[in-house]
Amino acid sequence: MRVIFLFATIFVAAVLATGHQTHPSMQGMQSLSISYDTPEQFSLLKNYVDDPGFDFVRSTNDLVDVLVTADKIEEFKQLLEEHRMNYTVMIEDVHQLVTEQYIEQQVERRLQARSQDYASGRLSFTYYPNYTEVNEYLTYLTQTYKNIASLITIGNSYEKRSMKVLKLSTGGANKPAIFIDAGIHAREWIAPATALYMVDLMLQNHRDLLTKVDWYVLPVLNPDGYEYTHSSSANRLWRKTRSNTGSTCRGVDGNRNYDMQWMTIGASSDPCSDTYAGPKPFSEVENQHLRDFILTRKGQIKAYLTFHSYGQYILYPWGWTSNVPANEPELVSKLLMNIIASAIMHFVTNNIFTLLSLLFQRNLAIQCAQAIAKSRRTRYTYGTSYNALYPNSGPSDDWAMDKAGIKLSFTYELPGGNYGDLLPASEIKPVGIETFEALKVTHQYVTSKYASH
Ligand SMILES: [Zn+2]
Repeated sequence: MRVIFLFATIFVAAVLATGHQTHPSMQGMQSLSISYDTPEQFSLLKNYVDDPGFDFVRSTNDLVDVLVTADKIEEFKQLLEEHRMNYTVMIEDVHQLVTEQYIEQQVERRLQARSQDYASGRLSFTYYPNYTEVNEYLTYLTQTYKNIASLITIGNSYEKRSMKVLKLSTGGANKPAIFIDAGIHAREWIAPATALYMVDLMLQNHRDLLTKVDWYVLPVLNPDGYEYTHSSSANRLWRKTRSNTGSTCRGVDGNRNYDMQWMTIGASSDPCSDTYAGPKPFSEVENQHLRDFILTRKGQIKAYLTFHSYGQYILYPWGWTSNVPANEPELVSKLLMNIIASAIMHFVTNNIFTLLSLLFQRNLAIQCAQAIAKSRRTRYTYGTSYNALYPNSGPSDDWAMDKAGIKLSFTYELPGGNYGDLLPASEIKPVGIETFEALKVTHQYVTSKYASH
């Protein structure tokens, strides 16, 4: 399996270097999930990496998910069958699904538009909000929870959309903070929706999470790309920013653009690639704003969480090396001590199963994965980005840990079910509820380690 993993590593690096001049037509496009278990099968798949008809959206050490255009699909399936490779058609017709989802979105939006909640800016979380609706919701929160919620404008995007961080705080000085961002990859719609729904849950029913910790939430880190995917069904699969870097192809992969081992592995120098790292580290103004915001609060922010989709992973640094972070042993042992201490503290209120699970959990990622699993039996894989998923350089979580000194730095790859990034809006609430369990665990850990008691 290790050999296969190494192949996978090379494969993903190759995938990342793929360049498409334009996004291929979705008409007749299918989404396949393909299992492989021999190096021969793997290298066969690898042959298609540079083919503009193929978009490898996910790759692990035993499967790949790939979008294939109509003109290539039959021939490709035949080849898979000839080489005895199992595949499942996840989406029969990508174009049809995207079109249907757009209509559903519009219908639901209009339905909600009649409600008083909509007029106030409140989100129903029954459809994916666009950039304007996200901002209206943030304003609604500041008006509804005047003493807790406030907005910090951290700057404008490339196309001059304002970027707003929601601050949740019950006041008081020297509180530790948890920072959350989402939507650096435009097409991963479940990420901003989940971040916002968790805020909704917190403000409605879990304000105890605000007593000892301040929260900063940047729901849309790539507003231009996000709005682009909302503007037309043809743009639904756009991933990058929308900056013009002087090439015929627009945009940069924001999550390869941080000044942390920039362009060393798993990133592309091709402006047409979906993982183009940009002309230089922090070329993207959106990332500059995030950097400046976090560095201004260096020392206060104790946990950095960035939400993506898909694949059900809780990842921590590093992406550029198979080495684990220097603080992992410290994290594991001290965390356990803290968990035990807090478990005893909460003995009366926690049931025995919670206590036992707390006692036996090895580290925060494991604990968060188990909290999620308990909520809806969703299984998460955890580990370093390099070891658990694939190598990459210049992602925000590596930067947050190394350059901003935030020792608890995690990337969440939220569930995609059978739909990948096209997860139906009906999943927003279930995903939000289960992911909130991980947020509670993170909060508990940050409180027990950093808050004054
Ligand atoms: Zn992503």
